[in-house]
Amino acid sequence: MFDLILRNGTVFDGTGAAGRLMDVGVRKGKVAAIGKLGDYATEFVDCSGLTVAPGFIDIHTHSDATLMTDPDGYSLLMQGVTTEIIGNCGFSCAPCFRKELVEKFMVGTMPGQEFRWKSFGDYLDLLQAQKPGLNVGAYVGHNTVRLNIIGNEPRLADDDELTYMGNVVRQALDEGAIGVSSGLEYNPGFHSDLRELVAIARVASEYDATYATHVRNRDWQYEMGVGEGLATARIAGARLQLSHLVPKVGAPEHAADHILEMMEWTQKLGIDVGYDVIPHEWGPTFMYTVLPKWAYEGGVVAMVERLKDPVLRPKLKYNPFPQWKLVGEKRWSELVLMRSGANPGLVGLNFEEIGRIRNTDPHDAILDILLEEGENMADVTWVGKISPDRDIRLMLAQSECAVISDAITLNNSGPLKDIRFAPTAFGWTARFLGHYARDERMMDLAAGIRRLTSLPAKRMNLARRGELKPGYFADIVVFDAAAIADNATLQDMNATPTGLAHVFVNGQAAVSEGKRTSVRAGEVIRRSSKP
Ligand SMILES: [Zn+2]
Repeated sequence: MFDLILRNGTVFDGTGAAGRLMDVGVRKGKVAAIGKLGDYATEFVDCSGLTVAPGFIDIHTHSDATLMTDPDGYSLLMQGVTTEIIGNCGFSCAPCFRKELVEKFMVGTMPGQEFRWKSFGDYLDLLQAQKPGLNVGAYVGHNTVRLNIIGNEPRLADDDELTYMGNVVRQALDEGAIGVSSGLEYNPGFHSDLRELVAIARVASEYDATYATHVRNRDWQYEMGVGEGLATARIAGARLQLSHLVPKVGAPEHAADHILEMMEWTQKLGIDVGYDVIPHEWGPTFMYTVLPKWAYEGGVVAMVERLKDPVLRPKLKYNPFPQWKLVGEKRWSELVLMRSGANPGLVGLNFEEIGRIRNTDPHDAILDILLEEGENMADVTWVGKISPDRDIRLMLAQSECAVISDAITLNNSGPLKDIRFAPTAFGWTARFLGHYARDERMMDLAAGIRRLTSLPAKRMNLARRGELKPGYFADIVVFDAAAIADNATLQDMNATPTGLAHVFVNGQAAVSEGKRTSVRAGEVIRRSSKP
């Protein structure tokens, strides 16, 4: 007797094997059997004409703070994602011993939101108590660890601090973090050197946990950025994940080919090198990354003072190494404001338009908006047309390339309803399966499903997830493969995709007939074994 039978769908197990017309039986939150299963179940869902697959896994999100505001997981569930991995690019909500710094530099915080936890374990306990709508695993972020130990100081770590940082990372891994992430284009991670990165990657390696890195550069100095990530993993012996690895505007045309070759050399040494790609040309980041490095000194209070100073203004605008070369090239129409508490009316407009409305140079408009946000300037985000489509395709064409959103979980109702982050927040799986895999004929459905299921589960060492097999967790998505389509646009970013029918998280219906139910059945996934 099953609790649930998904009847008569084309079942893909997630390994890349072809789909077969079958039933999937679920009992006590797990897949119990796959085959022709008869009539012994409490509940049936007719899947005729539909694709049945393991729930999709998003191994790169930034929902650490938003899940605490609203644990529903609506934006990801409505596109079939049943597990997300938070804490990427060096930023996690925990540990949080220096609240004033960790809160200020975290993405997705809401006005008045307070971080009520200290250790990583405290945070995971509170996250579980929130009852998330989908499963969540969390990296501990190097930027967060550094803020706790060195603060916002623009300098290298000394030996004692390196030992301390290693111990803090070790404790987070003991308490359930599934890996360690770094974000080397961001403050304060960009002050670290290879010695510091190797020290934290070594701790990841002790635990056979993943070291994921947002590399220091992916445009002018992409060789240095990617090379540093590869060297860190090689020296530390760590399993590596190179995050959102598409060259950005400003990189030479051969960069993507060269990056693939660089990775191959390191893989030949037996180092486990993985990578992932955002299936979209437009990507998000903090808008304050437009500022030159020296402007961060003293933290947000000092940053606000500098923005106020008319004498400093030309210096702030002179940034020889902006994080996005779109800024240096003054491609203002390819930069769109996504979130601003002080200027909600400008959200969704590009900086050519904003400059015109404000009757000012677009670059000044950017700095003015940051100033108007004051100490909450880390909450201001934008998206830029940063990734050439030809490079996205080249990366996606590699069979081991994973796919990610790089977004935050959002919702069309409740406290997060007015937040926009990136077109991938609601549409990344549908864009990958519908646009790239199906319409652009980059791969067949079985191969496309594997990219979203067993491939990311293996990268993250997620036990019994990512495949449909007896004994595995019943994270399941049912969709119409011919119809699945991304509807998110820059103007209407929070549009849910077409073609999604049902989503089950740990055997419970999170989406039914295309509608989100009230069930929140997600589990916080913790690293279980100690080294
Ligand atoms: Zn990143």
